[in-house]
Amino acid sequence: MSAVLAQRLANVTGSATMKVAAEADRLKRSGVQIVDFGAGEPDFQTPQHVKDAAKAAIDANFSRYTNAMGIPEFREAVCAQYKRDYGIDCTVAEVVLTNGGKQALFNTALALFNPGDEVITHAPYWPTIPEQIKIANATPVIVQTKPDDGFTVHPERIVAAITPKTKAIIINSPCNPTGSLTDVAAMTPIVEAAAARGIWVIVDLCYEHLIYDEVDHNLPKLLFDKHRDRSVICGSLSKTYAMTGWRAGWTIAPKDLTQAFNVIMGHTTSNIASIVQKAGVVALNGPQDGVKVMLDEYRRRRDAIHGWLTANPAIKCVKPRGAFYLFPDISELLGGEVKSSSEFAQRLIEQEHVALTPGEGFDAPGYLRISYATSMDQLREGATRILRLAEKLQPAKAGASR
Ligand code: GLU
Repeated sequence: MSAVLAQRLANVTGSATMKVAAEADRLKRSGVQIVDFGAGEPDFQTPQHVKDAAKAAIDANFSRYTNAMGIPEFREAVCAQYKRDYGIDCTVAEVVLTNGGKQALFNTALALFNPGDEVITHAPYWPTIPEQIKIANATPVIVQTKPDDGFTVHPERIVAAITPKTKAIIINSPCNPTGSLTDVAAMTPIVEAAAARGIWVIVDLCYEHLIYDEVDHNLPKLLFDKHRDRSVICGSLSKTYAMTGWRAGWTIAPKDLTQAFNVIMGHTTSNIASIVQKAGVVALNGPQDGVKVMLDEYRRRRDAIHGWLTANPAIKCVKPRGAFYLFPDISELLGGEVKSSSEFAQRLIEQEHVALTPGEGFDAPGYLRISYATSMDQLREGATRILRLAEKLQPAKAGASR
């Protein structure tokens, strides 16, 4: 089979997160009671007023093609959101609606990267980021972050990775899977170095509203002030409004790049679903208090599951500052009966029926990613099962090292 595939897919691996989601779904359908910490998606429901807007759009027969970039009302609502949240003035001509944040990043990769280009990003990373770079025939250059300082992205390490071949730098903040934040202070030297060399800066802000403490995270303003002509902001409704399945995201980019995105949209998906666009306008322009309610609940869940798991001293875990993933280091449990975090995850799903994504998918072997966007009961139950497997492995490890 692989002989018939295009060369561009030769080194591209499937989505580790989607794979776990599919496996959890398969087991649930076969009647297994799965505790699902796999895919990162809110367990909250899409707000009622957003659902009502979609129903109204169906009833009003808003069912035809729209402009490939999306209806002006939604793109204006994106501009209004960025004005409200970040004080920036973007225009409709700089906004394209995409099928989730994933297509926002993909359009960017396709429009900007050439074979031989290097694109710098940081690890542990969301698996889609380097794979999209490879699909565009460019080369990902990975700068590792470490748990000792909360997986912080150090600007000097990003800048040190720049070469004459660097086309772009992609920063994901809050970061999936580590929950680390790249604040304005850390981002400023990156943006300045990029501006001095004409390098693109792409920010994936899908979790922008899921930040637990006060921190200066106004990356859009920083980019607009210092590097507007070579910046791409990627955003999404998915996490903020519990709308993962609706597939709605956007890019904010310079007008000429936005025109290139228009060409790509026009030849691929065309517009995102017309009904979703009407709902998106209401999500962005309507009441925002639900976002805070979700954030407060995620904070409670983060603190709870972090406490439960780290009660076992062999499980080390940074407390995430944003998003809704815990990223524990379980390497002390490995090396005996179970050799790797992916074996641990496999055993966990087979024996304890807990689905989660092993660190290998994020370039972080020895780690597990736990999505805590699920109920407190499920978190308690899942933590109990993880700890049970961990305890079984601890004597084996001690035995192995004797
Ligand atoms: N972003 C989510 C995750 O990391 C959804 C899955 C995906 O799109 O990869 O689990």
